Amino acid sequence: MTGTRKLAVLTSGGDSAGMNAAVRAAVRAALAAGAEVFGVREGLQGLVDGGELIQSLTSADVSGILQLGGTDLGTARSDDFRTRDGRRRAAHNLVERGVDGLVVIGGDGSLTGADLFRREWPALLDELVAAGELAPEAAADHHELGLVGLVGSIDNDMVGTDMTIGADTALHRIIEAVDAIQSTASSHQRTFVIEVMGRRCGYLALMGSLAAGANFVLIPENPPADGWEDTMCDVLSGGRKIGRRASVVLVAEGVVDRHGNPITAHDVRTVLEERLGEDTRVTTLGHVQRGGSPTAFDRYLGTVLGHAATTHLLATDPGAEPQLVGIRGHRVVTSPLMECVEATRSIADVISSNDIDRAMALRGSSFTSSFELLRTLVPVRPREEPDGTPPRRLGVLHAGAPAPGMNAAVRVIVRVAMARGHRIVGLVDGFRGLIDDDTTELGWMSVSGWSARPGAELGTSRRLPEPDDFDRIADTIARHRLDGLVVVGGWTAYQGANRLIGDAARAAGIDVPIVCLPATINNDVPGTDLSIGSDTALNNIIVDVDKIKESAVASQRCFVVEVMGRDSGYLALMSGLATGAERVYLPEDGISLDRLQADLATLRAGFELGKRRGLVVRSEHADPLYTTEFISALFEHESGGDFDVRGAILGHVQQGGSPSPFDRIQASRLAADAIGRLLDALDRGDRSSHMFGHVDGSIVTTPLERFPELVEAGAHRPSATPWWMDLRPLAEQMATARPSEGC
Ligand code: ATP
Repeated sequence: MTGTRKLAVLTSGGDSAGMNAAVRAAVRAALAAGAEVFGVREGLQGLVDGGELIQSLTSADVSGILQLGGTDLGTARSDDFRTRDGRRRAAHNLVERGVDGLVVIGGDGSLTGADLFRREWPALLDELVAAGELAPEAAADHHELGLVGLVGSIDNDMVGTDMTIGADTALHRIIEAVDAIQSTASSHQRTFVIEVMGRRCGYLALMGSLAAGANFVLIPENPPADGWEDTMCDVLSGGRKIGRRASVVLVAEGVVDRHGNPITAHDVRTVLEERLGEDTRVTTLGHVQRGGSPTAFDRYLGTVLGHAATTHLLATDPGAEPQLVGIRGHRVVTSPLMECVEATRSIADVISSNDIDRAMALRGSSFTSSFELLRTLVPVRPREEPDGTPPRRLGVLHAGAPAPGMNAAVRVIVRVAMARGHRIVGLVDGFRGLIDDDTTELGWMSVSGWSARPGAELGTSRRLPEPDDFDRIADTIARHRLDGLVVVGGWTAYQGANRLIGDAARAAGIDVPIVCLPATINNDVPGTDLSIGSDTALNNIIVDVDKIKESAVASQRCFVVEVMGRDSGYLALMSGLATGAERVYLPEDGISLDRLQADLATLRAGFELGKRRGLVVRSEHADPLYTTEFISALFEHESGGDFDVRGAILGHVQQGGSPSPFDRIQASRLAADAIGRLLDALDRGDRSSHMFGHVDGSIVTTPLERFPELVEAGAHRPSATPWWMDLRPLAEQMATARPSEGC
């Protein structure tokens, strides 16, 4: 069976950032496959009204929208579409254009409406034929409507996908606001109650709290038990007593208590003012959360899912069961659309019935474990006595370049260990601290506020432990009675840690288990799909590249942008995908003269046909000879005067700035898991050393001694091909739709 050859795409329901990426990808994938694609303006209402609202799109029609927030096609709530007559008009508008495939990007309401439309389609066509409004042949040619749904929603509340398009951007908006509020709250020793969106889902409130280091959270899945006011007041006043200056409570807008009574942010304020006499302010973040340019992740997600939706529709019989296209880890997955919608709605029923355990379980293990972690992190009374096990002392250090999220990891390591009655010793400036015995004892409050902090508070360095250092390292470990080490960093961290478990180190008396957490913007260490810091770096890059692109709007100019990554092309490929770069040069591929000539020819052809700007992303180690300067000079010299070329080396802005929500969350969850497993292993007498990572959405460990065999000889990257290299053809297809069209 073959699928449709003419399809339509629309966005519906509440807008969310990344919808444009999905539309752009759906359109370009269809055109690349030789299909015709229509854009429907104003959501399902546009289907009903037809006319100018349903237009055949070219690749150029979707250029320049990748970085825009909201939806360029527009969206609306449509009462007409809820009526059968409205849907009959919609069917007419599609079938008269020969369309029998539909990509709908929206929430559960839009997907339900679209599914009803699909089920009614044959009958609607029969009615149109009977009324003389449609030729019987047209009805016969398009007797079924193919449907694929993508979830565009900031709430991240849909079964069938790990993430919905727009949720990551909403989290960014929340974190920016909460960070800003924390600084004023801290100055005045105030308490802030912040209401975030999420009527039926606490994802934004929960992850926002974990990422921003909020002190209390209320979510719909876990209606607080009677007496929650006392618990909250205890937590907040306990914090004040030991010196916390800012108190922040996050409230999801749909929260109710166990009796179904709504709890508003204002209710929370009243409790705090009356019981604690706190100067308390309420901030309702509101629609700020929906707005703004999509994050790198939402651009990636929209692109991957939009492409997959069209590809699925073009390959499937229109009569096939409609599918929801979502993501699991980094894999695109399809699931029966209405099963997902119904399962999502049943969670709302479970929440309403106060079945808390089930509601939490239905949200998935990362939701539940994040909630449990938050419960560990917010109280300010770590257990003084260990839980029946001897108190441990563990050392924590960074190594290599700073990566945003390192501080968030240390905060969680300290608090999770202390909550179990153990102690953490910070080693200053990486392995140097271990060699020179430069340490600092870390306490519960000494890591307060660290989740949002850029850089590495403990300090970091590229110094690797050499055999001559081993005796001094053994002395430091003995002097501080360290039972184990946690090393948070990138290549230097892994390499150094690997040396410390070797025979020479052991002979010198170094005999502690070591845990490595991946924290490097380069995303170049083995044992993990992603490393802490790389998401922040990607977002730093796209913000700058967006500006660079805008600067060229009136000129005929091509930019060659150089990004970091050392021997890993992750940042280059993913930023190229997220900014619409036409060419990406990666260290994994190298650069040849033939390739440069071909790219130059494509650029020239494009500019001759009226293209206004070009974008090439080059990874810093893509090739030792063909540098950014060289490529810029070559392209400019050979441009035939049709365009000029500017090189831009982004440099260390990529490593800086406050960590993104994802990096804070990933750092917190990895750190909690790692320290928990290390402490458990010590209790069992297991002294093995591990690299921790996220693979396919789960936390996994790999024996540290395998590090040398898992990396490529002579290069700083894993030997196995990473998941993101599979995105290369997609990146190229998306950006090179037609030579005449920009990015
Ligand atoms: P959000 O999650 O942002 O609210 P949504 O897609 O769930 O997005 P809704 O307002 O529920 O938003 O639905 C959007 C549109 O989908 C409605 O205005 C209506 O036109 C259509 N729709 C929703 N439910 C149905 C239904 N049961 N039958 C027909 N159409 C429906």
